[in-house]
Amino acid sequence: MNMSARIIDGNEIAADLREQMADEVKTLVTSGIRPGLAVVLVGDDPASISYVTAKERDCENVGIYSRDIRLSPDVSQEKLLKLIADLNADAEIHGILVQLPLPRGLDEETVINAISPDKDVDGFHPVSMGRLVLNLDGFLPCTPHGVIKMLEAANVEIEGSDVVIVGRSRIVGAPLANLMFRKAPGGNATVTICHTRTRNLADKVRKADIVIAAAGRPGTVTADMVKEGAVVIDVGVNRVEDASRKRGYRLVGDVDFDSVKEVAGVISPVPGGVGPLTRAMLLWNTVISAKNAGSIIS
Ligand code: NAP
Repeated sequence: MNMSARIIDGNEIAADLREQMADEVKTLVTSGIRPGLAVVLVGDDPASISYVTAKERDCENVGIYSRDIRLSPDVSQEKLLKLIADLNADAEIHGILVQLPLPRGLDEETVINAISPDKDVDGFHPVSMGRLVLNLDGFLPCTPHGVIKMLEAANVEIEGSDVVIVGRSRIVGAPLANLMFRKAPGGNATVTICHTRTRNLADKVRKADIVIAAAGRPGTVTADMVKEGAVVIDVGVNRVEDASRKRGYRLVGDVDFDSVKEVAGVISPVPGGVGPLTRAMLLWNTVISAKNAGSIIS
């Protein structure tokens, strides 16, 4: 009989990482460098506002300077590109984050490409992606990197394990697959990537030592699909209606948590799982960028 799974506390792991970063920031500030992050929000989407507010609060907590830039939803692409060019040249700024999705009329591809790869703390620039695929040093995208940090903190052996990732998006599934199979610490796994055209998803997931759910659909991974003792990491964040909540909804992942925790050996919850790690890795990239730049501000 399997015992209930060990539940990974993403908030606790992220808090430890923030503590480490706060120490690093202190050292950098002593040597005249304060890491700086520009947070650009276009429009007034409520979810995006709450994400950028949280990111700015995180910066404050670890001593990173954050510059809050809010633009109206009808800002021209030209003006946004000019702003990015200015931030690229700004010595106080080590990281540029443009909150996605952008309002209609703005081309995300063009905007992301305009960010200097040296300040691409989200890790979405083609240069960062290319470096990841080529196994060269560079900014790692925050959610996939957060998953690796989470597995390491939970003492899960990645090397040699059979991993199934459900989802192949540019921001989660595809880069995470690269991180997990590459020849590097945190990698060396054998990875299967599943998507909507995958046949017999359940059979594939059942073979995995580590299952990563990043499909954006509640109930994608159910107990019957999980090998006993497997590690299950839930990246999904989905709103489901819940009349008992004041806001009318609650957040759930892609994994049927209550049933899967009775089969899995280790499991991450939603909320309080990968989300806090994603936020922490943004700070991480900003600190790395400041170290690389070595620029000095007053
Ligand atoms: P996305 O761009 O919509 O990609 C979803 C992927 O899952 C696609 O590759 C899709 O396949 C696949 N998929 C969807 N339904 C499936 C099914 N039933 N069976 C197999 N594969 C399926 O989403 P995303 O941006 O990667 O995000 C995924 C989830 O993670 C979302 O819930 C998002 O909110 C969450 N997320 C969380 C964080 C965090 O910090 N916790 C960060 C980013 C994203 P196709 O390619 O064939 O369409």
